[in-house]
Amino acid sequence: MSRLDSTLGTTFDIAIIGGGIIGCGIARDAALRGLSVALFEQHDYGSGTTSGSSRLIHGGLRYLEMFDFGLVRMDLRERETLLRIAPHLVKPLEFLVPFYGTSWFYRAKMRAGMILYDLLSHGKTLPNHRMLSAKEVLKAEPLLKAEGLRGAACYFDAQVESPERLAVENITGARDHGARTFNYAAVEGALQQDGRITGVRVRDRLEDSVIDVKAKVVVNASGPWFDRVASHLVPGSQPRVRTTKGVHLACAHPPNRAVVLFSPVDRRLFFVIPLRGFAWVSTTDTDFRNDPSEACASAEDVDYLMRSASAYIPVLNDAPVFWTNAGIRALVSQGGSESSVSRAHKIESRPGLVSVLGGKITGYRAIAEEATDAVEGQLGAAHPCTTARHKLPGMRSPLEEQCVHLADFMMRRTSLSFTPDQGRGVVENVARLLAVQLGWSAERTYAEVHAYLAEIGNTYLKS
Ligand SMILES: Cc1cc2nc3c(=O)[nH]c(=O)nc-3n(C[C@H](O)[C@H](O)[C@H](O)COP(=O)(O)OP(=O)(O)OC[C@H]3O[C@@H](n4cnc5c(N)ncnc54)[C@H](O)[C@@H]3O)c2cc1C
Repeated sequence: MSRLDSTLGTTFDIAIIGGGIIGCGIARDAALRGLSVALFEQHDYGSGTTSGSSRLIHGGLRYLEMFDFGLVRMDLRERETLLRIAPHLVKPLEFLVPFYGTSWFYRAKMRAGMILYDLLSHGKTLPNHRMLSAKEVLKAEPLLKAEGLRGAACYFDAQVESPERLAVENITGARDHGARTFNYAAVEGALQQDGRITGVRVRDRLEDSVIDVKAKVVVNASGPWFDRVASHLVPGSQPRVRTTKGVHLACAHPPNRAVVLFSPVDRRLFFVIPLRGFAWVSTTDTDFRNDPSEACASAEDVDYLMRSASAYIPVLNDAPVFWTNAGIRALVSQGGSESSVSRAHKIESRPGLVSVLGGKITGYRAIAEEATDAVEGQLGAAHPCTTARHKLPGMRSPLEEQCVHLADFMMRRTSLSFTPDQGRGVVENVARLLAVQLGWSAERTYAEVHAYLAEIGNTYLKS
């Protein structure tokens, strides 16, 4: 008997494809509204782009420059909401924008941007921006290069050290309100009646069985897999998302606060962020057309990030790079350079199907609200959204959090893999403890350790 057999005989109000932050957010929102919810994730919750992000909860100063005021305003509002509903996961983070040899006009422009950023987040709990002299900057960030430094702007945004846990806790919250959610369950096609989608065909990847699940509305929340999933649901559908790869690396010498810099290689904005005791250098932005599961850092990506960062933080020249991480952005299709494409999301609704394109982690709750409103529009219902009021549930036992593999525990239920050795030193002990909880045999425990080491093998650079 498959885990999924328990869905037989039910026609769900909503079946969600994808257990990234957005799918998990929709599951929680819909369950809190009293809808019957099923969610299917082909791998583990939060294992897609959600785990390949820079881990910032931010309006994004950069988007001001692109005149994306609507996006910035929404994300700044959501930043406040997340600080309130997930204070154990989302924490304030100070950012510093140093000015190196910049013109008076540039500094005035930056100051105007800071004032606008404060105005757009009117009513926030975080402090307003302040300007620092070069001397104050070096006192605050002694690792920064002194030569050419003219001062800096300082402002606050927030950080989510584990967006994976943000996803998992949305799942737990959804399950607490009756949602049926399945990781390692891939949607392979749609059920159709009279041209309308009436459910999904799902492969249980743990038991290799296939089952049809009926639903009144199906939601495609598969992030960078969007076009692949859409082609299963609606044969002949045209590509809608542009996918670009972003790489991060973890290395020694963290700054005291997040530093916003412009690469001397191509003038692109990038960050050096303190994260769990290392410097998290973020990110590249290059078109990527393969399966998003194949994304990983290339030697050129690492070289670009290290050359960019060490130009301002000289000690990084010799810093060991511990490991890398890559994620694939799903941007609503448009031309232009990768970095110039808007990060704004789009929700589309047609009978039986709601599609979520693009979006950021920061805005996930609002995006989920909009998507659930669209689902309710099709169901003829209009319950109020309450996700901005209810705190996320916090940590539960591995069983309650649907932890299937050792890698799920190391990378997404905890952050044990977020250490310089990616948890190699503790993984065997953790596996033994987990084996007791999850009833694994000695062979299974051994295989789990090997599978974990293989999973991090792609990203582990230090010899
Ligand atoms: C380099 C980089 C940096 C970023 N930095 C930030 C940041 O600092 N702050 C911020 O707010 N945002 C950031 N983002 C954006 C953010 O990470 C994404 O917008 C967000 O994670 C998208 O979530 P999602 O749920 O749409 O996609 P995903 O997390 O990719 O989830 C989609 C899920 O669908 C599943 N799936 C696919 N096909 C199927 C199928 N057939 N059946 C079942 N499941 C399926 C996948 O396995 C995946 O888990 C960044 C993105 C990148 C790439």
